[in-house]
Amino acid sequence: DTYYPEDANYGRLEIVIDDERFEERVARQSQRFLATGGMLLLTLGIGMTLLYRSVRRELDQAHRMQNFVAAVTHELRTPISTIRLHAEMLQDGWVDAQKQPEYYGRIVRETQRLGTLVERVLEKSRLKENVTRPEAGELNELVLAQKDDLEPPEGERSDLAFQLEPKLPKVWLTAEGVGMILSNLVENARKYAPAKTEPILVRTRWSNGRVLLEVCDRGPGVPPSEREKIFEAFYRIGSEQTRTTTGTGLGLHLVRLHAETCGAQSSVEEREGGGSVFRVAFRPAD
Ligand code: ADP
Repeated sequence: DTYYPEDANYGRLEIVIDDERFEERVARQSQRFLATGGMLLLTLGIGMTLLYRSVRRELDQAHRMQNFVAAVTHELRTPISTIRLHAEMLQDGWVDAQKQPEYYGRIVRETQRLGTLVERVLEKSRLKENVTRPEAGELNELVLAQKDDLEPPEGERSDLAFQLEPKLPKVWLTAEGVGMILSNLVENARKYAPAKTEPILVRTRWSNGRVLLEVCDRGPGVPPSEREKIFEAFYRIGSEQTRTTTGTGLGLHLVRLHAETCGAQSSVEEREGGGSVFRVAFRPAD
């Protein structure tokens, strides 16, 4: 209706608003807006998570490198100063003839320790290149061949027990790998879980289609959250400032690299009755 009666002479304008379509458009647009907003939030979330992860990885790596440098410095410094001190005393004639063999012995042992450290660092780079190929071999034979080298030095009481399952099938292995794996695991058991109540057990057995090589101790065990990390390069539980044992965090990493060369899996789990079982599962060759 017109406001002024005379306006009625000009005609009539009717405006129809289809509010149903209008509402539909509003709903469609707000849906589009929500979807775009959601996508943006999701992208932002994923981006932030990736960024956080990569920063954390970098920090972890930096922390580990710092620990490694501290450990290596310590591992290098101690033998070098011991060798120097003993050699200087011998050179200056301060050691009587009776004591001399002991001093020479100490120098040789410390040189061996230095040699081992250098070897380990070099071995890591070599294994990463993956040049050695595994061959079919008897695990028990290799363990037995190494038995005497694994025992403590002459005069000390044995802290090892062996339990080798007979008639195990041949597996894919490298003799060097099995040697390194065994000596590292036994050395660790001595270092972190000295045999007080019962000997360190070296065992081979057949389980679930794999031939297992296990080194079992009665030490403090490894907390579940650390069981994967200890196989990473330069990783040691705790921090260099509070640690009492020496090491570089390379031993178990080398165990894993050697196992991988043989196509075997390495792991650690809790031992029944306390302690740890370090395990390498070899693939049968036939
Ligand atoms: P390193 O002995 O040079 O520290 P490893 O790679 O051999 O390096 O071991 C990594 C860490 O795993 C050690 O620092 C130690 O805390 C832990 N670990 C290794 N073996 C044992 C064990 N038998 N019992 C308890 N903890 C262990």
